[in-house]
Amino acid sequence: MPEKRPPFVVGNWKMHMTVSETRALLDSIVKAVPDLGTARIVVIPPFTALGEAARLLANSSVALGAQNLFWEDKGAFTGEISGPLLRDIGCRYVVVGHSERRQFFGETDITVNKRVHAALRSALKPIVCVGEILEERDAGRTMARVRTQFDGALEGISPEDIRKIVLAYEPVWAIGTGRTATPGQAEDVHAVLREKIAEKYGKEAAACAIILYGGSVKPANSFSLFREKNIDGFLVGGASLEAESFIPIMKEAMKAYKEVA
Ligand code: PEP
Repeated sequence: MPEKRPPFVVGNWKMHMTVSETRALLDSIVKAVPDLGTARIVVIPPFTALGEAARLLANSSVALGAQNLFWEDKGAFTGEISGPLLRDIGCRYVVVGHSERRQFFGETDITVNKRVHAALRSALKPIVCVGEILEERDAGRTMARVRTQFDGALEGISPEDIRKIVLAYEPVWAIGTGRTATPGQAEDVHAVLREKIAEKYGKEAAACAIILYGGSVKPANSFSLFREKNIDGFLVGGASLEAESFIPIMKEAMKAYKEVA
């Protein structure tokens, strides 16, 4: 297994992008794909744009994901969305445990874990987010926090299923704030997460695992972040809403990959 994995870049559009805006952005992303080599790209539109995005990406290597799912597969759960419904519309990935869901919608490690299992049941790859708040970082509790979140989110996950899971380290203080973790700060946490995978699932699973960084990623910082050994790509929020910033992020990551791989 080579030391460095090709860039894996995810654009999380959050509660933005109409269907016509989706068309325009995906058109630019799809046109940029040939310049991005072996980079893997996932876009995560709002639920309302998934159908149109699936249609536009049908013949493309860009994969589609959703921002959340409920842990039951079907039933009387007004307002929720299930794994089978996401799979049916063409999703291959789903974000689970984003800090905005933990902060504003009461997600806990227990409900994150239920969602991870639900995603896997529907053959969706979960992108599982962990990360500390500023007070935890200032108190020296970052590693303890992400270890706890890792253990909680991955409770009951088999060695076979760990290979289908993407982890995202997203320090809460860096999300949407313009304040990015330094490459060193991010790398330290990524290394701990990879160690956790090795402890629980073995060295080979750890070597294959995809661990993303998220938190104010921009074209100007993606090169230096991606150069770090354990940073495999990015979960990008704000800067994924425009082709002018999202595509250069991927190009910078690819440039760094070519240098260090
Ligand atoms: C995110 O949405 O996960 C995120 C990291 O947002 P931003 O890039 O805007 O900080």
